[in-house]
Amino acid sequence: MNVGAMWKSHGLDFIGMSLSGIRTSIAMPQYDLCFDTAQGFPFHFNLKHFFITHGHLDHAAGIPYIISQKAMNSHAPAHFYMPKSLVQPMKNIMSIWEEIEKHQYKYHFHGFDADDEVALNNNFFVKAFPTIHRVDSLGYTLFQKVLKIKKEYADLPSTEIVKLKSKNIEIQDVLTTPLVSFTGDTEIDFLNQRPWIRKSKILFLECTYIDNSKSIEHAKKWGHTHLDEILPVLDQIESEKIVLIHLSSRYSTEYALKILKEKIPSHLMDRIVIYPGR
Ligand SMILES: [Zn+2]
Repeated sequence: MNVGAMWKSHGLDFIGMSLSGIRTSIAMPQYDLCFDTAQGFPFHFNLKHFFITHGHLDHAAGIPYIISQKAMNSHAPAHFYMPKSLVQPMKNIMSIWEEIEKHQYKYHFHGFDADDEVALNNNFFVKAFPTIHRVDSLGYTLFQKVLKIKKEYADLPSTEIVKLKSKNIEIQDVLTTPLVSFTGDTEIDFLNQRPWIRKSKILFLECTYIDNSKSIEHAKKWGHTHLDEILPVLDQIESEKIVLIHLSSRYSTEYALKILKEKIPSHLMDRIVIYPGR
C-alpha cells in the first residue's frame, strides 16, 4: 500500500487512508493540503500545507520523512500547522535526524491554537477548532471565501458602483462557507465547540468503535468516539456527507457497513461514507 484511496465529492478530490492506530492521512491535492501525515507517503511529496491534528505516531510520524523527501527533490520547504505544544518536540526530533543524516533540513512549523487560521490564497483559508483527545489536539476546517455585493447596492448601474468604489465605500460582503472539516481523534463533545463544524459540507468524523466489543466508556477513556454517540446527533449535523474515519482495525469494511446499515436510519444512510483505511 503506497498510494492511498481516492474519493470524490462535491467536485473535491481526496486521497489517503485512515485506520485507528495504524495510519491516518487524507490529502486534498487541488488545495495543496493534507490533514495529518500518517507515516509519510508518495502522495504527500508535492503538497505544501500539512495540518496536524495531534502528535500520535499514526497521525504525525511522516513529518520528518516528508521534510527529507522534499529536501531530496529540491522542493520548497513545506508548512506544518500543529498544536503549539507539539512544535518544540518536533523540532527536537528534526535536530536528532539532522545529526543522524548530517544534513540541515528546512521546514516551517507553525504552532496553532483553536481559531487560528491561515490563508491558502485569496479565496480559501483553513481555521483550527478545538477537539478533545488524550494529548493536545485540534481539528481543521477548509473555508471558501466569496465576495458578494451588498443587497442595498445590488441593483445599481455599474457607473454608480464605480462612483461608490472611488469614495472607498465597502460595497461587498464577505461570505465564508465551511467546505471540509477534519476532526483527527476526538471525543464526540467537540461538535458543540464551534458552530461551523456541523455546517461543513463534508465532515470527516472520527468513529473508532461501532459495536458492543468496545463500550462508549472505553471510547471516552481513550479520547475517541463510538458510533452509538454519533447516532443521537446525526440529525443535528447539517453536513451533506459525513465521512467516518479512524475505524478500529478489528472491523473489516464489510462488517462496518453491515453495522452501519443496521444502526443508521435509511433516510440518513446516503450521507454516510466510510473512508478506506486499508
Ligand atoms: Zn490519537
